[in-house]
Amino acid sequence: MKYAVTSRGDEVSNSLCDKIKKYLNEFGLTYDKDQPDIVITVGGDGTLLHAFHHYKHCLETTAFVGIHTGHLGFYADWKPEEVEKLVIHISKTPYQIVEYPLLEVIVRHYDDESPERFLALNECTVKTLEGSLVCNVEIKGDTFETFRGDGLCISTPSGSTAYNKALGGAILHPSLASIQISEMASINNRVYRTVGSPLVLPQHHTCLLKPLNDVDMRITIDHLSLVHKQVKTIQCRVAEEKIRFARFRPFPFWKRVKESFVGE
Ligand code: NAD
Repeated sequence: MKYAVTSRGDEVSNSLCDKIKKYLNEFGLTYDKDQPDIVITVGGDGTLLHAFHHYKHCLETTAFVGIHTGHLGFYADWKPEEVEKLVIHISKTPYQIVEYPLLEVIVRHYDDESPERFLALNECTVKTLEGSLVCNVEIKGDTFETFRGDGLCISTPSGSTAYNKALGGAILHPSLASIQISEMASINNRVYRTVGSPLVLPQHHTCLLKPLNDVDMRITIDHLSLVHKQVKTIQCRVAEEKIRFARFRPFPFWKRVKESFVGE
């Protein structure tokens, strides 16, 4: 089996990575940073987000597992002191794969025929560089509302505990192939009206954002942030691709939610 290890880059995470490499090599696994069967991330959720984007070309064959060297993460749920146990699991036992849905984002520009396609593990956010975001929101081909406010967040179920949660969105179990649209400070008065509640769309229901003012847009995909000019539409839906997590022990999603937000 081929493996790769990625680190957040701090001293603790780096030395844990070295330890993991040493153990896995001793167990006869092959280090392959280009086409690994399993990617072990050491750091936090951000490290796993980075690894996901690095390995998005081989999602079908690669599984991820995360170790946290800071606080308990949603994707990084193994503790540093469990490394020996994890390494033995990886080398000796066939592991279960759990798949989580991803978000597909397609950005089309007025001045360019070729659309840009992105995959997000957590979410896509749409804001403007200056002033309010004004855009038509279409759902499944029908106009739903005109949004005016700070921006919109479209998240995956596993991303629902991240930015989406801070916006008052619901926490969704990742077995629900869906996306959630949540508002950032929408303007609601006699002139502008939005639904005001987060919306959850099932697979195959597309959400299309059509900016109405010609301003530069800041579109984020997880930790990545890009400025787009002349944006015609931003199309969001559940992606065909999925992320695969290697599971070695049960750690139910709701237990992670409880431990992260309610307390142990
Ligand atoms: P970061 O270092 O600012 O970390 C943000 C925090 O989000 C970390 O504590 C991380 O553990 C947590 N996090 C990441 N994914 C999560 C998930 N799926 N569920 C629960 N918590 C999660 O930034 P980063 O590490 O580069 O991560 C980027 C993410 O930060 C974005 O995808 C976005 O979700 C999140 N973010 C949140 C807010 C907010 O809550 N107001 C604002 C901006 C970005």
